[in-house]
Amino acid sequence: MQIKQFVFNPFGVNAYVLSNSAGDSILVDPSVSDERERSALAAYIKDAGLKVCRVLNTHLHLDHVLGNAFVERTYGVKAEAHEADTFLLGLQKEQGDMFGLPFDDPAPALGGFLADGDTVEVPGIQLRVIHVAGHSPGGLAFYCENAGDGEGGEDAPVLFSGDILFAGSRGRSDLFGGDEAALVSGIKSKILTLPGNTVVLPGHGPFTTVDNEKMWF
Ligand SMILES: [Zn+2]
Ligand SMILES: [Zn+2]
Repeated sequence: MQIKQFVFNPFGVNAYVLSNSAGDSILVDPSVSDERERSALAAYIKDAGLKVCRVLNTHLHLDHVLGNAFVERTYGVKAEAHEADTFLLGLQKEQGDMFGLPFDDPAPALGGFLADGDTVEVPGIQLRVIHVAGHSPGGLAFYCENAGDGEGGEDAPVLFSGDILFAGSRGRSDLFGGDEAALVSGIKSKILTLPGNTVVLPGHGPFTTVDNEKMWF
């Protein structure tokens, strides 16, 4: 699996493009917010010859859904996320006003829901959906046990953790249905129980590992 990371929009969301050797790809939070970012994402997808198969949102806070409309228009693929976050799509203007984020290209309705234990798959890439409420009610992480490409490259497991877990901290729990106790217990039971060498690729900031984060909990 190839993983390309971008940092998009004024909130610095890590957007990830996962692809296999045949060019099938999965976008995680493709949160482009202006013309320059849209061009950068589109150029990468075009130059790498990728076909966008699935679009996943770790959660539906405005900073993570800013690119949903563009991606749907351009590639004809609707985003998927956890059902418990869908109310946030009705609060895009409120979030934009609150955080000074653009919302001139609102995210449309989702194409489908993802739940804990689901598998998202394109050939050679298998992601297990992990639901941890608390930063938002429908917060998701995506776990890839076999991230290696079989060519001797990186083959530690990988976790796309959204705003649930960051390097050295966790997501805030004071926004729209946040719940600190649920967040901490979900991290402990569902994320810190993954293999310690799992590389954690969060929704903001640098990567970390499960072992590195165990000391904070
Ligand atoms: Zn968030
Ligand atoms: Zn965020």
